[in-house]
Order: sequence, then C-alpha cells, then structure tokens
Amino acid sequence: MNTLPDIEKDFAQWYQDIIYQAELVDQAPVRGCFIIRPYGWAMWENMQQYMDARIKATGHQNASFPLFIPQSFIAKEAKHVEGFSPELAVVTHAGGKQLEEPLVVRPTSETIIHDSFSRWVRSWRDLPLKLNQWCNVVRWEKRPRAFLRTTEFFWQEGHTVHETLQEAETEVQLMLNEYVSFIQGQLSIPVFVGEKSASERFAGAERTYAVEGIMPDGRALQMCTSHLLSQSFAHAFNIKFQNREGEQAYPYLTSWGITTRVVGATIMTHGDQKGLVLPPAIAPIQVVVVAIFKNDEEYQAVANELDFIQSNLADWRVFSDLDRQKTPGAKFYHWELRGVPVRLEIGPRDAKARQVVLVNRFTGQKTTVPFDQITQVVAAEIKNIQDGLYKKAQERLERLVIVGQKLTEFGPQLEERGVACVTGWCQSPECEQALAPYKASTRVLLDTQKVTHCFNCSKPSPRDVLIARSY
Ligand SMILES: [Zn+2]
Repeated sequence: MNTLPDIEKDFAQWYQDIIYQAELVDQAPVRGCFIIRPYGWAMWENMQQYMDARIKATGHQNASFPLFIPQSFIAKEAKHVEGFSPELAVVTHAGGKQLEEPLVVRPTSETIIHDSFSRWVRSWRDLPLKLNQWCNVVRWEKRPRAFLRTTEFFWQEGHTVHETLQEAETEVQLMLNEYVSFIQGQLSIPVFVGEKSASERFAGAERTYAVEGIMPDGRALQMCTSHLLSQSFAHAFNIKFQNREGEQAYPYLTSWGITTRVVGATIMTHGDQKGLVLPPAIAPIQVVVVAIFKNDEEYQAVANELDFIQSNLADWRVFSDLDRQKTPGAKFYHWELRGVPVRLEIGPRDAKARQVVLVNRFTGQKTTVPFDQITQVVAAEIKNIQDGLYKKAQERLERLVIVGQKLTEFGPQLEERGVACVTGWCQSPECEQALAPYKASTRVLLDTQKVTHCFNCSKPSPRDVLIARSY
C-alpha cells in the first residue's frame, strides 16, 4: 500500500498519485496521451450517459464525422486557423506515399461539419439543424496532465444552425444551462458561469460562454464552453438558405462541448487524504459489499446472504467483494482509495443477526442497518453524499474566492494564498494583460457588480470579472 502525499501541503502531487493509484489512467507511449483504464473510463461513461440523454431530450441528434480534415478546411476561417495552428497534428503521408493535401487530425470539427451543412441546408424549412457527436480530438499539448490537459481527449461537440441570431443565442444559453445543471447536480461541483473576454474566446466565435470551477488550490478549471459562432463560419463555408421572404441568407451557428476534463475536476474537487470521493451519480460502483470471514464456514455463512442483499440494491451499481486472499483491512483501503460512496460490511455475526454495517465514504460514519431497511437507508445515504459533497465544495469555494479592489493588492495573493478573485474591470485588453505577471487571467464576466472600478486603471467597471490562475 502506498500512502498518498499530504493533500493540504502538496495538492499537485496528490492528484498526480491518486490517478495512478486508483487505476484511472496509465502512461501512454506518446507524450501527452494517456490510457484511460476501466475505472476511469466508467466514470466518463456515466457522465456521457447522462449528458447524451439531455442532448437528445433538448432536440439534438447524434452523428459521426471523419477524424481527418483536409488542411484547406481549417484555413477557411481566418481566426480559427490562427488559433488552432500551433496545436495541430498533421498527416502528410499515408498509403505509402506523400499526400497531395495534408490531413489535419481534428482539433474540433466545425470546419468539416460546416462543409456538410453547406450541402444540407437549403431552406428555412431545414432549420434549426441540431447535431452532436461524441468523439476524440487532438490538440498538441506542451504541458500534459492526465484528464486536465492531454493531447488526445474525449468530448461531445454540438453544432447547430439557426434562422435568426436570437434563436442561436437561445441555443447557446440552453446548452450552457444543461452543462451547469449536469456539473452541479451530477458532479456536485459549484461553478461560475459567464461570457469569456475577447482574448479567451474560441477561435472564430463571436461570443464564448464558459463554466468554471474553482479547484481546492484556488485555480480555475474551465469545464465546458458554449459558443455563439454567429455568421463568420457560415460565410467561410458558404452555408446559405432561402429565408421565409424567399431571399438567400446566411444562418447563425453555434457549437458547444464538454470534455474528459470534468473527470479531473471531479477528482480534484472531492478527493481527500484517503483517495477519491466520488459523487454517487457518476461513481462506477455506488455500493460495495465487503464480505468478512476467517475460514470456509464463515465464508459460506456470509456468501449465502449476498444474493439477498444485492436484490435489495437493484437500483444501484453494486459490487460484492468476496476476495479470499485480501484481509478486510486491505479491502477497506482498496475501496476507500477508489471513492466508492457506500460500503456495506458483513461478517458471520452480522449474517446471523441479519444486519450489515454501513460506512459512508464522505463522512466516515458507521451505522448498523437491519436487512429489511437496507433499501431505504442506502437510498438516503446516497442522496446525502451527493448533496453533502456539493455543500462542502460550495463552502470551500466561498473561502477560496475573495473580492479584490486593486491588482497590486490581490495579485500576489492569487499564488501565495491560493485564491481566486472577483473584481471590477474596464474590459480593455491592456488591463487584462496586466494579469500576466501573476500568471492569472480573466475567467468569465459575471452578472454582479461588487466592485465598480477596474482592478488596474480604476476606470468604471460595468460588471465584475472572475480572475484566477487556471488549469
Ligand atoms: Zn482598466
């Protein structure tokens, strides 16, 4: 058994160790790529399942577009190519010879999808067109960290086409709200939501909105984005439709995505000194039943009750640990490290008394539960853990986010105290650049106005901005 580094003193190393110890990832032969192991992938699958259902329920259909994009496509939208060029992986050879046109491994799929849209959209009757795809994308990463910054990552990318700007804006907000309710409700992570500054915008977008979490070290983590692409891509890819007046018009586009980064955010937000603490909604195993026995006779006595216990837990993802090699202590350690929300222990005396001992991973509390109450008690514990994780994260967020007046005052604290800051901003790029020496950036513009002047130049500030160092 390896002990984890002190989570309070060395959070970065704690994260680095837990992802391997809990068998979420392994190193890949290509730097920047990671192998996602079954336990890590199961977390992502649970997240995917929830979001996929929401994407479909809000009127989108799934499709699949090619991994390879002709290089000329990327160049069609000037800001897009400028933004993505440094991160592109390009295939120049295939089939044993040099390709006439190099192929880009998709960093995102606007260009190849908009090329199709230019053929599929003819009339206002074809709109809105609302597609989504689940896939992997590649953006060459100089400073990789598993889940947080990886050369290859997994995501969904939604792409929609609308008749009017108003409809496109409504779509952008619809999906932003879906992300917020997913992150807060399923992942138990409190967030800030708002528009990005011009310098932080998606390459080619008119407006980018983002959802940002604040990790325990005070650094912001962008968890997803929703872009109003407006008409720039429609012009670049010649997407035109006949409007209701019978005229040719350019439609308004959106795109939005959430990535495997949210797995990293979940690990960091809830983990503790013993390992992962997983929100029940996405935990691969929600209830682990640990059998405790010393000999064959005790093993039988306990094993005989497991079917009955499992049948009472049909609503949950349950695993029964009947390992005959490991001690009970080793089993407890194993499942605590993996963050399983509820552990039920059953030994021969419990079997006889028709009861289990329930241990809550979040609070550490132990309760004796009679067999006939298992269903209700487990349901209540699961709900308490889901809500308790959110509450604890919210309380920490309130401690980690300070209100600052002047950059010279709050700037040094961002790193020294590990905090983020809500302040005022005149919204000029020059003042934004003043954050660079503190390795900080504007994260999102907020709807509040707690500070009425700019953090740098003291000119009036129309609305607050969240400033932080970021992942
Ligand atoms: Zn200013």
